[in-house]
Amino acid sequence: MSEGAGRLAEVEAKIAQAARAAGRDPADITLVAVSKTHGPDRVRELLQAGHRVFGENRVQEAQEKFPALKAEYPDLQLHLIGPLQTNKAREAVALFDVIQSVDRDRLAATLAKEMARAGKRPECFIQVNTGEEPQKAGVLPADLDAFIAACRETHKLPVVGLMCIPPVDEEPALHFALLAKMAARHGLAKLSMGMSADYETAVRLGATHVRVGSALFGQRPTGHAGAA
Ligand SMILES: *Cc1c(COP(=O)(O)O)cnc(C)c1O
Repeated sequence: MSEGAGRLAEVEAKIAQAARAAGRDPADITLVAVSKTHGPDRVRELLQAGHRVFGENRVQEAQEKFPALKAEYPDLQLHLIGPLQTNKAREAVALFDVIQSVDRDRLAATLAKEMARAGKRPECFIQVNTGEEPQKAGVLPADLDAFIAACRETHKLPVVGLMCIPPVDEEPALHFALLAKMAARHGLAKLSMGMSADYETAVRLGATHVRVGSALFGQRPTGHAGAA
């Protein structure tokens, strides 16, 4: 077994255990393997072990790595988990199957236009800045109701869920519980929350998607911007 396959089995077992402890079906949780900064050979290790769902936080890096891998593994599913600039929306719609970082009206409008143009509708998550951190992407909780309404009614985006990245120095469970409550209020079934340090907590609080990087691939080279 490759090192990657070993780590994958370990993370999957922990997800299953956390799910069962919470009375949930482990099959309802999708592990998004966050491969940013790691080369295609590391991704291929997990593909060979049977894993198919990956996450990248930069459009350009994903464009360099994933078209060839998608050609090899047509059922590979790629999630964009980082901030998206409107001028990259066309590329993002073409490459990604899911866009988890929809967080402002101009981006929503541009995505709608590019989806119509491409005849392809990647599922969208709305990123919520639950910690109300000024430097962080995501719509503020107070603006969420109006933003969801605009995404659904004006832009007609395929919104399926909410995503959050809690502040590093706060108890993540509070943020996960808040995100779950907001999603329930809007009838959104999917919740992307939890990273290497806290994905089991996220599963207990209802995550349907956990985004796990370093627990699967090891530490990233220092100097790379982490979660934005
Ligand atoms: C990098 C990143 C992750 C994964 O972080 P780890 O701590 O390595 O698991 C998850 N979500 C987002 C948005 C990221 O940028």
